Amino acid sequence: MKSTIAWRLTVIATFLGTSLAASLGQTSQSALAAPYGIVYTRDYLKQLNQEKLLIDVGKSKKGLEYHGGPVIAQAKVYAVMWGGTVDSQIQTGIGGMLTATLNSSYFDMLKEYDTTINTADGRNGTQQHIARGQFAGQITIQPANAKLSITDDEIGAELEHQVQIGALPAPDANTVFMTYFPAGMTIDLGGSLSCQVFCGYHHNYKSAAYGMILYGVHPDLGGNCAFGCGVGNNKFENQTSVTSHELVEVVTDPAVDQNTGPTYPSAWSTTIGEEIGDLCASENTTLTVSDGTTYLLQQAWDNASEQCAAGPFQSP
Ligand SMILES: [Zn+2]
Repeated sequence: MKSTIAWRLTVIATFLGTSLAASLGQTSQSALAAPYGIVYTRDYLKQLNQEKLLIDVGKSKKGLEYHGGPVIAQAKVYAVMWGGTVDSQIQTGIGGMLTATLNSSYFDMLKEYDTTINTADGRNGTQQHIARGQFAGQITIQPANAKLSITDDEIGAELEHQVQIGALPAPDANTVFMTYFPAGMTIDLGGSLSCQVFCGYHHNYKSAAYGMILYGVHPDLGGNCAFGCGVGNNKFENQTSVTSHELVEVVTDPAVDQNTGPTYPSAWSTTIGEEIGDLCASENTTLTVSDGTTYLLQQAWDNASEQCAAGPFQSP
């Protein structure tokens, strides 16, 4: 995870109302090599000159393949506020979005990524069925690590610490901590910085005490991220878009390995390591709740139809 460009690219979205397009360059092969489920900023994509690459490659590779690792069968998602100054709209709104998304026709599509199959090379699947999940609550932590620039490893260690002191629940194989950071903080993922290179990612932390701690990392999408992340019309919509991308990815590929690309214990990704959200990162959709509330989500790849599932989607 030390090379800035050795990560899989995620297409970001509609840019000023028009779909981005660019050509496949040499750099893109290495950029696609290893996964974090990153959503990249548009500025970074422009540097790589490959905005359109992933969708085209994904379609040509027949979508997602199973590599034998676990999925999350019944996601139990916590929204974790990194201190008390996270964007107020996130604090008041992201729980509703997660509640609706985890209990929706959007989430039902993930059933086709059950692991009751064998891999192409004969490895037995983990025999899991992906059901709807649940939003388990929102927790504001007071990080022991108060640095304003924090590394991915430090995020994992902080989550473990918060579990140890009882601020966060002990995680099991279904637990996901979706972390939201305040403005002014920078996340360093092996030398690549939030809002310069990425808008969000998902990863895991190997804890001796608790096993694999699964989490999503969501920097504040203002500042340098304001015009470079998500497919929405405003900061909150951009965050729900990025959040949906990382949510479906952590469910279908929780043990994603940052170094080796799509091999066990990864679960579902393309032959070059793109995950379910990466193939559709320029496409938005909506999720409407029975009370009329509508959330902007990002589309996810549907293997059955070999395209991004367009929606719109509903939550009861
Ligand atoms: Zn992704």
